[in-house]
Amino acid sequence: HADTAMYGAKAAGRNNFQFFVPAMNERANERLKLESALRRAVAGKQLLLHYQPQIDTRSGRAIGCEALVRWQHPERGLVPPAQFIPIAEDVGMIVPIGEWVLREACRQQAEWAAAGLRDLTVAINISALQFQRADFPDVVARILDETGADPAAIELEITESALMNPGSEQLERLNRLIERGLTLALDDFGTGYSCLAYLKRLPLSRIKIDRSFVADLPGDTEDAAVVSAALSLARDLGMDVVAEGVETPGQRAFLAERNCTLMQGYLFSRPLDAGSFEAWIRGLGHH
Ligand code: C2E
Ligand code: MG
Ligand code: MG
Ligand code: MG
Repeated sequence: HADTAMYGAKAAGRNNFQFFVPAMNERANERLKLESALRRAVAGKQLLLHYQPQIDTRSGRAIGCEALVRWQHPERGLVPPAQFIPIAEDVGMIVPIGEWVLREACRQQAEWAAAGLRDLTVAINISALQFQRADFPDVVARILDETGADPAAIELEITESALMNPGSEQLERLNRLIERGLTLALDDFGTGYSCLAYLKRLPLSRIKIDRSFVADLPGDTEDAAVVSAALSLARDLGMDVVAEGVETPGQRAFLAERNCTLMQGYLFSRPLDAGSFEAWIRGLGHH
């Protein structure tokens, strides 16, 4: 029947959209439903954070973690960010969601510090749309004050695409965050196809090599070249590097041989809920 409908639409000519309109409506409806469900999710406390350890393989210690948002949906279960962050960005919901993430991660850092985990950094993902807003540093400062989080233990992860060709306003915004004591990491490094000259103008302390470049190490010679180049660039600019998505001992060895010792990935741990993360850290015996 679908074939007949398609054939019918074609036969009726280019200007006949009647067979496509229902599908488009359905998609728009689906998005509207998702949008209002997302609004309920923020209001109804259905969002939560998982935390993935970041390891210094030289010492075997966890240096910190990355906070990763999830949606505990009443019917769909635990929804990963890839299924709702892009829509949240489209409809502007990313701003309140991002603020919730910031506040919850800062609250958690303060709680962990009070429980003795003072030197643990909590990295927080910032959407380009959050960072674009002129009031972003004020929002961050207010949340730090409200939660009592230690700014030195909070790292903001901003994607390469959000920082491409930064203007003076964006540089000032970054500097205001630095002055408040936060550290900045460049997320998804390598995925932006950008000219890397801009990097030296940015007050970044860390680069995160995207998982897509780590996945096929050590065998893929092109990825190996990209990772090696990123490491020497970071070294020249005085930044450190976290490799993301480390899953195998072979990947770990390749990176360690090139003096990239900060790693994050399933080889060490998946993202964990706050309680499990704390148990995992204490299980390492260093904290
Ligand atoms: P990201 O910031 O690059 O985060 C790393 C992603 O890689 C996480 O996926 C993490 O679970 C996954 N990962 C870590 N190690 C491994 C590994 O060894 N193997 C594999 N296959 N995956 C690994 P997740 O949690 O699904 O998040 C996906 C993306 O969603 C994040 O990529 C980030 O761009 C976005 N995101 C997550 N939380 C937030 C948030 O609070 N705000 C914003 N704006 N974006 C977020
Ligand atoms: Mg990230
Ligand atoms: Mg990343
Ligand atoms: Mg990524």
